[in-house]
Amino acid sequence: MTMHARPQAADLPFAARIDRLAEVAVRVGLNLQPGQELVLTAPLDALPLARAITAQAYRAGASLVTTLLGDDVATLARFAHAPDEAFDTAAGWLYSGMAEAYRNGAARLAISGDDPALLAGQDPDRVARANRSRSKAYVPALELIANFATNWTIVSAATPAWARTVFPDLPEDEAVARLWDAIFAASRVDGPDALAAWSEHNAALHARKDLLNGHRFSAIRFRGPGTDLTVGLADDHAWCGGAATSRSGITCNANIPTEEVFTTPHRGRVDGYVASTKPLSYQGTLIEEIAVRFEAGRIVESRASRGSDVLARVLDTDEGARRLGEVALVPASSAISASGLLFYNTLYDENAASHIALGQAYSKCFVDDGAGLSEDDLSARGANRSLIHIDWMIGSSAVDVDGIDSDGQAVPVMRGGEWV
Ligand code: ZN
Ligand code: ZN
Repeated sequence: MTMHARPQAADLPFAARIDRLAEVAVRVGLNLQPGQELVLTAPLDALPLARAITAQAYRAGASLVTTLLGDDVATLARFAHAPDEAFDTAAGWLYSGMAEAYRNGAARLAISGDDPALLAGQDPDRVARANRSRSKAYVPALELIANFATNWTIVSAATPAWARTVFPDLPEDEAVARLWDAIFAASRVDGPDALAAWSEHNAALHARKDLLNGHRFSAIRFRGPGTDLTVGLADDHAWCGGAATSRSGITCNANIPTEEVFTTPHRGRVDGYVASTKPLSYQGTLIEEIAVRFEAGRIVESRASRGSDVLARVLDTDEGARRLGEVALVPASSAISASGLLFYNTLYDENAASHIALGQAYSKCFVDDGAGLSEDDLSARGANRSLIHIDWMIGSSAVDVDGIDSDGQAVPVMRGGEWV
């Protein structure tokens, strides 16, 4: 992948950089169309970015922006004071409403900036029940997002709680400023022309994706410390990466930033063992040093040095939670990896290293964008189904990647974490 040496725009006032990020989110991330509605979710601490995005959305012709703010203090109040049986409750009405909005053509934008360890001190059983009931209630909306029914994107905001986790030794103001710098750089908003930088970046990702598609590999093999994993690919799989076109016909970038090319594994053809190369921050809990073993696509052994109880509960969410829905390749020298930071945030950390995802597959990563494939067709090709989709990082400069041809020959794809 081409790396860009971009001048820092430290001379730009903060508000101008926020506006540029909002513009990238709306123009590149969503490619919001005139007359479209937008459903926006954000942490309370991301209000300035949420407002800048709202303004950019209306300038792009949005008909209505509906913003839902999440509040960490309110979440903790539930764990402190709600009765035990409350943790099986979720706002199903809300997610049904979101699904209706997407079916009617609304775009979706999520600002992520959650406190990575918000729920670390809470009863893991309650955390798991709350997550599970939320995941179940979320299905109608998640299916439309996973099937790329509408244009959607995720961007991040540097909230104080997140910044404290990334920079524990800095005063809070400085930590927040440093995290914003990292977000602006990774989101390619600091150069002279952010929209042009994104066109160039998308072209580079498309070239990489096309190269992998040309090989028609049947499997991808990862080898490194604690890892020898062969990930069989779904029949008729296609590699995805960079801007893609939703089923509603709008070309957008679902993640800002993005550095990955990715595809759909076969849910029954993953074998071997793998060790995580970065901690996984999962809905408020950190899971560290994950090591699992796969047999015929299914995780049959798992451990973690921290958060192993949460990991065990995640794997028990449903049958598909023990199987893979995504495999993604990211060079160890990606712009985000080059920052040298651990972000404790999937959007950032998954774009710093090759990764796999437990759970739901994206129906888009098939020949012809998976158009016209029913759930049964997808299943017959090996696509996994689950309530969850959790990315975790398995790549590093110590990990080699081979593509396996249909005749079993290995073709070097990455050496020392870099594209061959
Ligand atoms: Zn990914
Ligand atoms: Zn993923």
